[in-house]
Amino acid sequence: MTIALSQFDEVRLDHVSRDFGTLNALRDVSLTIKRGEFVALLGPSGCGKSTTLNCIAGLLPVTGGSIWLDKSRVDTLKPEERGFGMVFQNYALFPHLNVRQNIGFGLKMRGTARVEMERKIDEALALVRLQGQEHKLPGQLSGGQQQRVAIARAIVIEPPLVLMDEPLSNLDAKLRLEMRAEIRRIHNELGATTIYVTHDQDEALSLADRIVVLRDGMIRQVGSPKELYEAPAHLDVADFMGFRNKLKGKVISNHGGHAVIDVEGAQFRGLAREDLPVGTSAFVAIRPDDLMLTEPGGNALKATVETIEYRGREFVGTARSSQGADFVFRSHHSVEPGGSIHLTVADERVLIFADQA
Ligand code: ATP
Repeated sequence: MTIALSQFDEVRLDHVSRDFGTLNALRDVSLTIKRGEFVALLGPSGCGKSTTLNCIAGLLPVTGGSIWLDKSRVDTLKPEERGFGMVFQNYALFPHLNVRQNIGFGLKMRGTARVEMERKIDEALALVRLQGQEHKLPGQLSGGQQQRVAIARAIVIEPPLVLMDEPLSNLDAKLRLEMRAEIRRIHNELGATTIYVTHDQDEALSLADRIVVLRDGMIRQVGSPKELYEAPAHLDVADFMGFRNKLKGKVISNHGGHAVIDVEGAQFRGLAREDLPVGTSAFVAIRPDDLMLTEPGGNALKATVETIEYRGREFVGTARSSQGADFVFRSHHSVEPGGSIHLTVADERVLIFADQA
């Protein structure tokens, strides 16, 4: 392969912070990314994902801490001196340049010799599977094709790091899935190191080797997709990982990490993810998929159906408990809005978190 990405062992963010006036958009973020990793920065809108990426790229100066590529400090360098590849949500292509010229732009700026430049562009075109489209203008391409051009342009300069900011957000659902697979394929084929910003947990779970969950400018949890999906360490991370139902109750017992919580007279048993003293308030977190309709009695939680929707294979409903807790459930048969239901869940599907309030 002609395109050979610059090699390094790790990129390190060391206590990085970024303020905008009085707003602390990033606070004390420390993170090490190894060569070859695909790392997703995940979190809700405004948590600091793009700020982190822009600080790494050099588009934003840090206001505290430092960024390193092995033993070289890079946060003091200009973006072009860092030479990282960037892919943006809006593609950011030059509209008056054709595909080939767009891809070659960075090489031309660097004064790359013509023959070498053409060879690299050819290889980048092949890698993103755009041969035959090379003389079209961006306006003559679909969104997915434009994003392929943007990716080719980012990797043709042989960057040590590829930075992607929500690259799939402007594509429709089907194309998003296709390009998701393409991005991972290109990462693998090149042996790239990629940092990828998204607010979509499915995207992060399916693409990344490691996910960094941010909130309020701070790292909440770092782990493999499996670790985050199965063992979120905090309630907000659990929420992001699909534990949409959060029922507030009181800790009745807690032994060896297994806690029993009373929620409106129903008892839930589950894995305690945090310190949970008996008598304190806690949240039971459950995925909608795991909440099942059951017969009255036993430990079932009683609730009133609010809405019910037919979704083909099943029904998805919302319900409210007598104390006003709202939750989502699934059912194989329809239930009437306004009717009573009883809900239960398998113990091993329940996580329990302290009530931080
Ligand atoms: P989104 O998914 O909505 O882009 P994000 O997680 O990428 O969110 P950032 O764009 O990094 O979030 O923004 C983090 C915080 O910093 C937000 O509160 C945002 O309003 C603020 N912020 C970002 N850029 C600026 C700026 N140039 N000036 C002032 N505040 C900013």
